[in-house]
Amino acid sequence: MDAEHMGADLENVLFTEEEIQGRLAELAEQVWEDYKDKDVLLVGVLKGAVMVMADFMRALPGTAEMDWMAVSSYGSGTKSSGVVRILKDLDTDISGRHVLIVEDIIDSGLTLSWIRTNLESRGPASVEICTLLRKPEAAKVDIDVRYVGFEIPNAFVVGYGLDYAEKYRNLRVIGTLAEHVYS
Ligand code: IMP
Repeated sequence: MDAEHMGADLENVLFTEEEIQGRLAELAEQVWEDYKDKDVLLVGVLKGAVMVMADFMRALPGTAEMDWMAVSSYGSGTKSSGVVRILKDLDTDISGRHVLIVEDIIDSGLTLSWIRTNLESRGPASVEICTLLRKPEAAKVDIDVRYVGFEIPNAFVVGYGLDYAEKYRNLRVIGTLAEHVYS
């Protein structure tokens, strides 16, 4: 799905496909350098991180394992509930492993902060976070995010895996959703 297929539902394009791919390539290079002597396990959080994971891991100049978790946080609204429930756990035993959480977006940071604490309790060698997008709200919580693709303004965005009520995940670009869609 391209921006023009969104019609009036799309307010603005924030990042084009080229911009997303370019930034992911930079992040992949940096991650590879940092983990060069380590066997990193990439952990994605379903479903938003699907596109980021697919492109980020292909941008790595070597192989890496991936695993997935599914948690509930948002429902179909636009505000984080702070209530996190594991819907699908990892298949991998992460004790002694270097875990890199690959995320699409950090908004309040509540979800990720909970996931990180949960993963840390399983005895991994390390847990770091890589997110494509970060909103200003995230600055308010004490969460150390090692890799950030883009800092974005406080607006509801869709595309490239990000949804509103399960829609627009297949939009190729990342853009702001027109207010009439959710108000
Ligand atoms: P947090 O707990 O507030 O950081 O929210 C985490 C999750 O909320 C993300 O992984 C997304 O699934 C979702 N989310 C937050 N902001 C947006 C947005 O602007 N568009 C779509 N989903 C979002």
